[in-house]
Amino acid sequence: MRDLVLVLGDQLDLASSAFDGFDAARDAVWMAEVAEESTHVWSSQPRIAIFLAGMRHFAQALRDAGRPLHYRRLDDPGTRESLAAQLSIDIAALRPQRLVLTRPGDWRVLQALQAVAADAGLQLDLREDHHFFTTPSDFAAHARGRHGLRMEYFYREQRQRFGILMDGGQPLGGAWNYDAENREAFGAQGPGFDMPQPPRFEPDAITREVIALVRERFASHPGRLDSFAWPLTRAQALQALDAFVTERLPLFGPYQDAIWPGEPWLYHAQLSAALNLKLLTPQEVVAAAEREVRAGRVPVASGEGFVRQILGWREYVRGIYWTRMPGYANANALDARRDLPAWYWNGDTDMACLRDAIQQTLDHGYAHHIQRLMVTGLFALLYGVEPRQLHGWYLSVYVDAVEWVELPNTLGMSQYADGGLMASKPYIASGKYIARQSPLCDRCRYRPDERVGERACPFTTLYWDFLLRHEARFADHPRLALQVRGLARVNEAERARIRAQAEVLRALP
Ligand SMILES: Cc1cc2nc3c(=O)[nH]c(=O)nc-3n(C[C@H](O)[C@H](O)[C@H](O)COP(=O)(O)OP(=O)(O)OC[C@H]3O[C@@H](n4cnc5c(N)ncnc54)[C@H](O)[C@@H]3O)c2cc1C
Ligand code: SF4
Repeated sequence: MRDLVLVLGDQLDLASSAFDGFDAARDAVWMAEVAEESTHVWSSQPRIAIFLAGMRHFAQALRDAGRPLHYRRLDDPGTRESLAAQLSIDIAALRPQRLVLTRPGDWRVLQALQAVAADAGLQLDLREDHHFFTTPSDFAAHARGRHGLRMEYFYREQRQRFGILMDGGQPLGGAWNYDAENREAFGAQGPGFDMPQPPRFEPDAITREVIALVRERFASHPGRLDSFAWPLTRAQALQALDAFVTERLPLFGPYQDAIWPGEPWLYHAQLSAALNLKLLTPQEVVAAAEREVRAGRVPVASGEGFVRQILGWREYVRGIYWTRMPGYANANALDARRDLPAWYWNGDTDMACLRDAIQQTLDHGYAHHIQRLMVTGLFALLYGVEPRQLHGWYLSVYVDAVEWVELPNTLGMSQYADGGLMASKPYIASGKYIARQSPLCDRCRYRPDERVGERACPFTTLYWDFLLRHEARFADHPRLALQVRGLARVNEAERARIRAQAEVLRALP
């Protein structure tokens, strides 16, 4: 054998760079389902199922394409626990001359596979991943000599470089950013019965077999599989993309930050898992959105808001990850040391907003961005959860969670653990923010405008406690000073009450 092409669970594309120059007469593909990828963090059942089912469908596509495949199933007798252990014994049996790999999504996996290649005395041909607009070196070049690394400047550069939503040298519609138009909440009636629902992909025989395996082998893991209906093949992912850009993208912008109880999808794309498994390329997703904008079927503000998430945030967080790892994983600028409350794993809390976001996460392996940032993330930030523990939770529970994207979002954007490299200020708010974005507070035993007392909203208590704990650090901060100045109206007795109530909250199980 000449090349053994290693394909990981998030590299499910026949056109992946690892296949450049593939010769079916001399090369073969290697894939392995190993337990460690589901247990190094306590992966939820939906997350395990999407990776295993995606891999098994891709194995079928490889066989159909006539590419020789060595596929190790989790339930095959003798399957090793880790990718490294499995690959080592397969190299000894298959004796390839070289290993080929597209850059993995996880620093830990890259280190492990490089070590296996070195031990076996084999060259590892590591190739860049075409499923991004930019490479880690592009990002490093952008970052060189800059003090701050704001996403906005990086994003504008990419718009110009790739000519996306541009009108000659100017941004389409005249502005780079339409954020101000993209912050509506639903009225009292809610999103309405005519809100288009995303397509569901009912489990076929391959997926049903995986679901049974996950239920049995990972019975103690969090999450549920009763409503598992994610796209798992390229054809399904393309169908999901088409349904999104034609039905929900027009209203994506205005309702990007809205939350509605019992409605997990709203006008969001639900495309992150398909993108991260590489069933779709960001280039085709962005092109589909731009086509709708240029045809006049989608307002520029919605189209731009969506493109910014993919061409801006998605590329930017990947750049942060690869240029800052491995040290980034230990960042803890606010010195947060509390344990993650146990109810993050089961949603058993009487805070209505957190219960809704976590239950939905466990049911679907999904929550939209504002739920991640301004409900589960905000609470952990105010509570003072140790960032690494929270990182373990986000990496476990979402079907789109791969470390390159999850880690910077959790540590940088949500927890300010990198001290402001990614976010220009900590995203802190009291319960009143959630009251503005959703009707959840009306259905909750707490009151968002009360910070002490029996009915005080824990977000609000912890928000004021956060300001008190970090008053000195942020007193002169250009974007937070105004919030800190609010403390001037809080007398000593009230400060003591806030601190005491926050400690009671933290002592709860
Ligand atoms: C604490 C935290 C953890 C997160 N963990 C993940 C994760 O593990 N995997 C993941 O893909 N995203 C993660 N995100 C980003 C974002 O929340 C999800 O990409 C989004 O909710 C996925 O749903 P959607 O496809 O409906 O996205 P939409 O809201 O419809 O957005 C469209 C697309 O833009 C991209 N996108 C949007 N926001 C971001 C972002 N901040 N970073 C990178 N890409 C983005 C995604 O590919 C997404 O599919 C996280 C955000 C936070 C605050
Ligand atoms: S009152 Fe507080 S805890 Fe209850 S839903 Fe509103 S923000 Fe959440």
